[in-house]
This record gives sequence, structure tokens and C-alpha cells, in this order.
Amino acid sequence: MKPFIYSLTMPELKRWMEENGEKAFRAGQVFDWLYVKRVDSFDEMSNLSKQLREKLDASFRMDALKEITRQESQDGTMKFLFSLHDGHAIETVIMRHNYGNSICVTTQVGCRIGCTFCASTLGGLKRNLEAGEIVMQVLAAQKALDEQDERASHVVVMGIGEPFENYDALLGFLRIINDDKGLNIGQRHITVSTSGIVPNIYRFADEKMQVNLAISLHAPNAEIRTRLMPVNRRYPLDELMEACEYYIKTTGRRLTFEYGLFGSVNDRPEHAEELAELLKGMMCYVNLIPVNYVPERDYVRTPRNDIFTFQRILKAKGINATIRREHGSDIAAACGQLRAQHAKQTQG
Ligand code: SF4
Repeated sequence: MKPFIYSLTMPELKRWMEENGEKAFRAGQVFDWLYVKRVDSFDEMSNLSKQLREKLDASFRMDALKEITRQESQDGTMKFLFSLHDGHAIETVIMRHNYGNSICVTTQVGCRIGCTFCASTLGGLKRNLEAGEIVMQVLAAQKALDEQDERASHVVVMGIGEPFENYDALLGFLRIINDDKGLNIGQRHITVSTSGIVPNIYRFADEKMQVNLAISLHAPNAEIRTRLMPVNRRYPLDELMEACEYYIKTTGRRLTFEYGLFGSVNDRPEHAEELAELLKGMMCYVNLIPVNYVPERDYVRTPRNDIFTFQRILKAKGINATIRREHGSDIAAACGQLRAQHAKQTQG
């Protein structure tokens, strides 16, 4: 199968142009058509010669994601289900914030990490997405926002999948959406979230990008973390914390810890005390997430007051903590729910 045009970074496309007897600046023109004018075919790229358009068409595919469903919540959250060329389905979400529109992208079809609170991992990993399939999610979301004259200003790599298990595609994706000839999404406006794949935290730190990194921590100690996230057996908490220290020291950037609150499992005051101790002295902040009830799993929500108590304890111990606003709770907004619903419907 031909490569996907949206998987190419600017230097890669320039190289292709030169190898095909074209001037390198043509790559910038192609990026402009793909990401600024947002056309759907090479034929529409009217400032390129017919011969170059034909060459591009013969060398690359452009088949966009196909929208299966789109749900819009009362708070403006939009959730898309797209089908890929091989029939797999993936989810993308647009979240509205007072600082802009944030696109949450998927990096894998399914996931093999096995977090015990997550519906997306139930069917295992089907395959990695190509860089272009991740890029296309942002582009498709931007096209939906075009209808409202709005812009995708932020990207969070927090959808289905573990981005650090699809590292090369992730890096290509980051470079493509950041390119100032294309979607031009500032690195500081991008956040990548990992379940804690330790070797790639070191690798990512050494890339020296300005992209934000978030660690899905969800536990104040190894025992609870293993219960919630079996990945803790592969990459134990103490090794994870060492990698986090390295990341902060190398990049000079503040790290985010995601902490989902699960009723009675990790949300008691003593857990907040233990978490504060674990993170003491680190340049970080904690994002507390009131977890949506996932029908396939039996974790329960933490009562509102307990969430505030948890936050108060962290703050009193000098740990910066915010509570994440819920998006689209009236639609299937928990990670993987829409895809799971679709799978059920198509299975019968
Ligand atoms: S929470 Fe993320 S990393 Fe964990 S199983 Fe679900 S998709 Fe994978």
C-alpha cells in the first residue's frame, strides 16, 4: 500500500521532492494545501504542475478518516468515531476550554496496557496508528471547527492507546502538527500522557521538546498502582519516579501527574498524605480526575466533598493540585466508551 501523505514531516517531504527532481520548497506548498487550505485531493493543489500532482497521487494515499458518528454535548464537547482504511474504529474528542479548543487524539487501536479501570483495553491491542492517522484526527477536528469559525489551539495525546508504545509515529505526529507551515500547534500547547513506559520517558526527555508530559499515576504507592495499573509490574513506581526526576532535570519543565479518584481505592485522606510525600520537592502538579463510571468496570465515583478534601490535603503539603473539569458527561465521554458501543452495535 502507498504511504499516507499525512505521515510525512516537512524534512521528509522535502527529501521526497528532491529525490523526484522537484524543488524542496514545493513541500511547503503541499503542506499549505494539506493543513491550511485543507483540500481533500492532490488535484486541487492548483499551484503545482499537473505532472507533480500526478506523481504525488501515484506515490501517496490521502484517504481521509471516515466519520461514522459525531456526538455533541451540551457543554460543546464533540466526540467523533472514525473508521480507518482497514475498518477499525477510533475516537477523537474536541473539548472546549476558556483558553481554546483542545483535541484529544488516539494513538493505537485498542491498548495492551491493561489498566483495570479502562474499557479500551478489554479487547487488547489491534494495531498501532500511523503518524498520519493521528494527524488526520486533528485535521478532521479542525474541519469541524472550521464550520464554527474556530481553531484547534491545543492537542492532548490522551485518547485510546499508550503513545510511548507507538513512539516513532508519536514523534512524527508531534513534528507535523507543530510545523509552522501546517497546523502550527505550539509545542507548549501539546500534552502527551503516558502510563509510565520508563525507557521512553528518558528518550522523550532527551528529545528536548517543549511538549508537556503527563504521567498517569493514579496511586500513592506501588501496591495500589499495581492493582489499578498492572504496568507497574513492568515499570515499578520507584523506577518511574527516577525517570520523572530525570525528565524534570533534563527539560526544566514541570511534570503533570494524572490522578483518577476511585471510590475507597485511592481517594482516602491517608492516600492524599502518601501522595504528597511521594511527590515532595518535585517540580510538578497533580491533576485530580473525578472518574466517570465505566459500565464494564465496577469502580465507583468519589463523592464531591471527598475530592475537595483530597485536594486540600495536597495543597496544605505544598503540592499544586487542580480538579479536572468534566467534559461531555451527557455523552459517552469516558475513554473508549463510544468505540465499545459501536463494536457492540456492529456485532449484533
Ligand atoms: S488508560 Fe490508557 S494506557 Fe491504560 S489501558 Fe486505557 S488506553 Fe491503555
